[in-house]
Amino acid sequence: MALVNDKATGVDVSGVFSLPMRNRFRGITVREGVLLRGPAGWGEFSPFRDYGDAEAVPWFTAAVEASRDGWPEPVRDAVEVNTTVPVVSPERAHALVSASGCRTAKVKVADPRSSLADDCARVEAVRDALGTGGAVRVDANAAWDVDTAVTALRELDGAAGGLEYAEQPCPSVAELAEVRRKVGVLIAADESIRRAEDPLRVAVAGAADVAVLKAAPLGGVRRALDVAEACGLPCVVSSAVESSVGLAAGLALAGALPELDFACGLGTASLLTADVTSAPLSPVEGRIPVPRTAPEPDLFADHAADPDTTRWWDERLRRVEAAR
Ligand SMILES: [Mg+2]
Repeated sequence: MALVNDKATGVDVSGVFSLPMRNRFRGITVREGVLLRGPAGWGEFSPFRDYGDAEAVPWFTAAVEASRDGWPEPVRDAVEVNTTVPVVSPERAHALVSASGCRTAKVKVADPRSSLADDCARVEAVRDALGTGGAVRVDANAAWDVDTAVTALRELDGAAGGLEYAEQPCPSVAELAEVRRKVGVLIAADESIRRAEDPLRVAVAGAADVAVLKAAPLGGVRRALDVAEACGLPCVVSSAVESSVGLAAGLALAGALPELDFACGLGTASLLTADVTSAPLSPVEGRIPVPRTAPEPDLFADHAADPDTTRWWDERLRRVEAAR
């Protein structure tokens, strides 16, 4: 991609990256995006391919914030992150959690490949690995109906010796609210929060105890901080499985939230087999320092997308910028 100076933003489009993922996620195996460079540093524009232009606009706003404006002052130096346990055997889950160095584990449940009994056995193994001082949360990725969620969460809560919370047990806000009324487990809204107005909607409906925020879909760190304040719920910051350039914005958000009571879902650099930087934002002993700018993408040339992919992103970026 030719270097294009964006007169409106003062930001240069630097190129398109393509990073293979370790496991299929949201039906994709490669994470792609555009890196932007501006006076404040680097930014990442990487909305998923199935997002329309209007939905991708906040991602562009977030990338411009990172590269042109920089982020607000953090109130903490480092952010605690959770490890994520995929659908694996209890033995493997135990080993993964023990090796992670994290005190909080998020266990994927409700997968078609796994029964409730399997999920309970995995959760029990994770609790054993963490000990009583750790926190076990589950993520159902909106897979259950209300009755299934109520039954499953009661059992999983028992198997875990107390769940920290359950992420998105059901698809809709109304269902989340109903599950929340019926079980004693705290409910976190993730998929229900994609746009800036969503957290307030979730809070008003009484659908969740915790809001999962992602910097890019909410339009950047400042807008996400406003959203957090407006919804009044405790927040957890999560990534959209970006490269470390995009992850930096999530860490800046987690670093700047006035209150942060839960470990964040920002330890995701390892879900990609490569990164655009030789200094990836990976956790050490379950914590990642809060960066002031995104890391230098010194390995970008090794992971540049092919010409067709680059052209696709170039066109998308122009359309999304025009849609702002
Ligand atoms: Mg989730």
